[in-house]
Amino acid sequence: MRLSQRVRAIEGSRTARFIPLMAEMRKKGRSVISLAIGEPEFDTPQPVIAATQAALAGQQTRYSEIPGLTALRTALAARLEDCRAANIVVFNGSKQALYTIFQTICDPGDQVIIPLPCWVSFSAQVRLAGGEPVFVPTRDHQLDLDAIGAAIGEHTRAILINSPNNPTGAVYPREDLERIARLAVDHDLYLVADEAYDFFVYDGRSPVSLYDLPAVRERLVVTRSFSKHYAMTGFRVGYAVAPAEAAAAMTRLHSHLTGNVCTFAQHGALAALSMDDELLRQRRIALERKRDLALAQIDGLFPCIRPGGAFYLFADVRGHLGPQETSGDFAARILEKTGVAMVPGEDFGVDGHVRICFAAPEEDLLEAFKRIREVL
Ligand code: GLU
Repeated sequence: MRLSQRVRAIEGSRTARFIPLMAEMRKKGRSVISLAIGEPEFDTPQPVIAATQAALAGQQTRYSEIPGLTALRTALAARLEDCRAANIVVFNGSKQALYTIFQTICDPGDQVIIPLPCWVSFSAQVRLAGGEPVFVPTRDHQLDLDAIGAAIGEHTRAILINSPNNPTGAVYPREDLERIARLAVDHDLYLVADEAYDFFVYDGRSPVSLYDLPAVRERLVVTRSFSKHYAMTGFRVGYAVAPAEAAAAMTRLHSHLTGNVCTFAQHGALAALSMDDELLRQRRIALERKRDLALAQIDGLFPCIRPGGAFYLFADVRGHLGPQETSGDFAARILEKTGVAMVPGEDFGVDGHVRICFAAPEEDLLEAFKRIREVL
């Protein structure tokens, strides 16, 4: 079968690369601890489950409005300044929102600046839209604003900002976002802000969003998700906040791609928004404690910059690589020897590192680091 060039040019998502191997190992009776795919270990909150069940029982099983339930979009818009339901489109996770954004803003040859390391799907999504990712390294995981400025050229269409960052957990300060905003205005660029982890900011800091800067809202598309906040990864509900014209264009595309997101899942998401924030706050505190535990465990094993948000450590494993060994080889070796799965840095565009998800039970974190320490 002759496959299109477009699809031949991409690989499957690398965050899932060890899932089949882990399943095989478990089948053989091996004890496997996954610190690979990024998903909170918490249960989906009861009010979300109850509302989803009630929606199913009430036959909320048919098509709904293509950009998302009006009630859901209205509730989301109410949380943002100067935002209306027409600015919100609900997608099957923020992953599909991001895919749709690049389809909406890129013409062939358009460039999107992406700070490195970066989440595995950005580059494939840009390429699938006919665009070209232009990678700009970060400095100690923070934006290198001069390098981003220097990377802007006549084909640049957008700058992508992901804070808190996946895979590094870096949180960008407001001053840096302001400089990015100025670059976008000066060069007439779009800004795409992936804020899937916006609630998970630690050390008493408050999250800062590009949306907080009114001067860029007309050129900004923000994506957020229910997956991580509410432990609803399998519901596949995320959304984009966009200028009305862009939101309408994304909705047109959505109407051909999937139509609405699963109707009863959207009712679950709506219930999540009416929950008391106390549960979320407790979960953030729990994750901060896990971060500190993971940092204490990794100390002396791999150098690692302290993440201010999200739920990942991006550890430097160069001191433990064999000759010619890549981070992919290293992660495979560790999985084979210890049963602990991590995602290699090469999948995020920076070799010599591994991403460790610390949103796992504390006993699993302790056991995983013990096993790695023993083997190394
Ligand atoms: N965003 C999560 C991760 O990076 C979920 C998996 C994915 O969609 O890539 O692990």
